[in-house]
Amino acid sequence: MNIHEFQAKELLRRFGVATPDGRECTSADQAAEAYTALGSKVAVVKAQIHAGGRGKAGGVKLAKSADEARAAAAEILGKTLVTHQTGPGGQLVRRLWVEQGSQIASEYYVGIVVDRTTNGPVMMASSEGGMDIEEVAAHTPEKILKAPFGSDGLLADDAAKRLAEGIGLPAELVPQGVALMQQLAKAFCELDCSLMEINPLVHTDDGKVIALDAKINFDDNALYRHPDVVALRDLHEEDAKEIEASKYDLSYIALDGNIGCMVNGAGLAMATMDVIKLNGGDPANFLDVGGGATVEKVTAAFKILLSDANVKGVLVNIFGGIMKCDVIAEGVIAAVKEVQLGVPLVVRLEGTNVERGKQLLDGSGLPIITANDLDEAAGKIVAAVA
Ligand code: ADP
Ligand code: MG
Repeated sequence: MNIHEFQAKELLRRFGVATPDGRECTSADQAAEAYTALGSKVAVVKAQIHAGGRGKAGGVKLAKSADEARAAAAEILGKTLVTHQTGPGGQLVRRLWVEQGSQIASEYYVGIVVDRTTNGPVMMASSEGGMDIEEVAAHTPEKILKAPFGSDGLLADDAAKRLAEGIGLPAELVPQGVALMQQLAKAFCELDCSLMEINPLVHTDDGKVIALDAKINFDDNALYRHPDVVALRDLHEEDAKEIEASKYDLSYIALDGNIGCMVNGAGLAMATMDVIKLNGGDPANFLDVGGGATVEKVTAAFKILLSDANVKGVLVNIFGGIMKCDVIAEGVIAAVKEVQLGVPLVVRLEGTNVERGKQLLDGSGLPIITANDLDEAAGKIVAAVA
């Protein structure tokens, strides 16, 4: 789950992280009031969408008076911001964050992710703040310093100091940098985050180290421990198909190709996508119906798959273990009748009662193409959408 910048800053403040004071606004008049309330000469009006790159796309504007704040807000609110993270469709701006402007002396990058090689969180820091960290990683990886730490969220003093010094914080500001990095590490673990990014972290002309931007992603599997975080969910920012899928406890991931994939289990999903690729095709998405694929679930899954206009064919690849293949076949048949399938459908079932399942599909009178193994199924769907 993702949250907005202003929400991330609010959470981080609880851990002591220094961030600019600000106000959330949903109208131009509120932005003007916020400017006055903040009392700083320069305020920054920032679009709140679940994507970075807002600055370059016109979603971050300076205001030096209440009128300027109102004008900037009027311009940004209701605008569809297209950034390198939104996709070509962009994201509609419904909320703003108006915060105190900082006199930036230098911008840095600090991020935390879970590192599979150290089996734990790792903090990354770079002198190259404010830029695409992916570019830095690709071209000058030596400019990204790393410090792994434990899942207790304790980043050792010497590790934090190495990062703070390494990114070029002036010596007198290193203690502030160390404290902020340790606060971030603690917040990352206590809030069960999967990603945290401060880009930029800045030091100001008056010698303060501040998080000027904040992005947090949470581990969905741990959200039950954080009802206050769940309350921050903003459905406007999420893919409608993913929201629909989560209602039925289905996992849906959108991809770029034209073959919709219905599978059970993430491992089988990966294998299915690989074999489609091997056969020269491209998956449009994958939808994991999980362990208990009921008729309702399969029907909902079909509807979600088909609501993607890019889907030119559907491949169902399901292993009947606890679920029996004949039950799955009944679900597929009922779903196909209900959704009036207009694209080719290939079904490959394996497991308990597989013969009975195939008989049901073949005898259904519906244009369902069956296959005996995954390679054959992938070949058939790739041919059908060609
Ligand atoms: P994004 O990453 O989506 O572009 P940021 O919050 O990083 O958005 O803002 C982009 C740039 O705008 C920052 O790199 C910084 O230079 C400037 N900026 C953002 N907030 C402030 C602020 N409070 N004071 C001064 N400059 C700011
Ligand atoms: Mg940023």
